[in-house]
Amino acid sequence: MQEEHAGHDLLVVGSANADLVIGVERRPAPGETVLGSDLAVHPGGKGGNQAVAAARLGARTALLARVGDDAHGRLLLDAQRAAGTDTTGVLVGGAPTGVALITVDPSGDNSIVVSPGANARLTPADVRAAAPLVAGARVVSTMLEIPLETVAELAAVLPAGGRLVLNPSPPAPLPAEVLAACDPLVVNEHEARFILGEQAGELPEEWARGLLALGPRSVVVTLGAEGALVADGAGAESTRVPSLKVEAVDTTGAGDAFTAALAWRLGLGESLVEAARYAVRVGAAAVTRPGAQASYPTAEEVPAP
Ligand code: ADP
Repeated sequence: MQEEHAGHDLLVVGSANADLVIGVERRPAPGETVLGSDLAVHPGGKGGNQAVAAARLGARTALLARVGDDAHGRLLLDAQRAAGTDTTGVLVGGAPTGVALITVDPSGDNSIVVSPGANARLTPADVRAAAPLVAGARVVSTMLEIPLETVAELAAVLPAGGRLVLNPSPPAPLPAEVLAACDPLVVNEHEARFILGEQAGELPEEWARGLLALGPRSVVVTLGAEGALVADGAGAESTRVPSLKVEAVDTTGAGDAFTAALAWRLGLGESLVEAARYAVRVGAAAVTRPGAQASYPTAEEVPAP
């Protein structure tokens, strides 16, 4: 006998990077060499982050991504498996694993060089080959750290009744057919302003209205310590979902934890407002601990509303 839903609660289609972090007193000038701290290597990338966040919460999570046949790729796969992610959809080879080279100065400012590597080789054909994985997921979540044509293919192959959550990061112009598939489009202030351009306005309510007019079925704007704003469908009033008051120590990856939690809860049948109320609690937990994936809570660690 088959259970009611045999597939995954959430499929994340996206990027996986090794974050290589070195502390420096100051950045080298061209031609100069400076000495830095010991190297720290952390699993990252928005896709990897989302999958770990959801799996740690207890969601049946799968990741469709590409990593290199190298030590960084194995590190990323290990991190996913340790969190409980189904990694059978992770493709290996074709280019080195994506890497973010990060220097952090004493004031905490980051300078980052990203080599997309294998992430840039996750192709539309890879998505087509993974059609059963896509069709078996209650929700599919993606972002723009993989090729835009791969995201477009995902929108195209999504079966009727499937649900796509898109965080357009790093922001880029989106084709109408991708926007039309988003339910919701999840943006932070920076991404909202990028997509809306000059006519963005100053209020999150205006951003939500402007974004809905571009065609997504729903919109979520994340507002950092203020929480989030959700707008469910064209013509709908937007609703503010306040954050929990917490002592933030590191907001790295908070948006990815928020989006993963939101997507998972939508797949369980919650409304957009209900899912966002849960996601702000997950986001709040993530900012109270250092790191990205290392900061993500289990379901038991999610603070009460
Ligand atoms: P991003 O990390 O993508 O820039 P935000 O800064 O809007 O996105 O944060 C995403 C989510 O993380 C927020 O909606 C909120 O739930 C949570 N969050 C971020 N910063 C804080 C904070 N200082 N206190 C509580 N929650 C926070």
